[in-house]
This record gives sequence, C-alpha cells and structure tokens, in this order.
Amino acid sequence: MSGPYFKGQQPSQCGHYYPDVLRLRDEKREDGTFVRITDCSHCGRHEFQLDVQALDKALVRKLNKKGVVVGTKEEELSQVREKALERLSSKQK
Ligand SMILES: [Zn+2]
Repeated sequence: MSGPYFKGQQPSQCGHYYPDVLRLRDEKREDGTFVRITDCSHCGRHEFQLDVQALDKALVRKLNKKGVVVGTKEEELSQVREKALERLSSKQK
C-alpha cells in the first residue's frame, strides 16, 4: 500500500493517492453531465461523474466552452508521477 504522501492527504475515488492517481481529463458529455477520467498506477483507468455544484467555476466555464479539459497528458504520466514524488519526498525531510 502506498500513500498518503503527506499528512491529511485525501484519497482519490479508488482509495489511492496522488501522484499514483493522476487526472487525465475532464469531459462534458452530450447529456450535460461532467465526468473526470483518472489514471491510477494500481488499478488503472477510472471514470466518475463530477458534481457540477462542487466544481470550480472556471473549470465549468472551460468545459462548457471546449467540452474537454486535459489534466495530464497520457505520454507524460510517468514523468509527472516521478516529479511529484520527488517534490513530496523532499518536503517530508
Ligand atoms: Zn487506485
């Protein structure tokens, strides 16, 4: 079991922690719902519905306009994880 990586860190939907779990993108679906697609290094891809009321207003605006907001590019997942872990572990010292 890995994580939490810092005190008070909240797990993602699947129970794992950033940066094991990274946000790939948020999408607005044709039926008007918002979904978030995440990649977990332990359990793979997840897709879950977002609560529009709880979302950042700027993000909602962007999603309404563009339909998709990319978080982490798929080809950069491992790089981003490495960097994030470095940053988190140096903080703990
Ligand atoms: Zn997971």
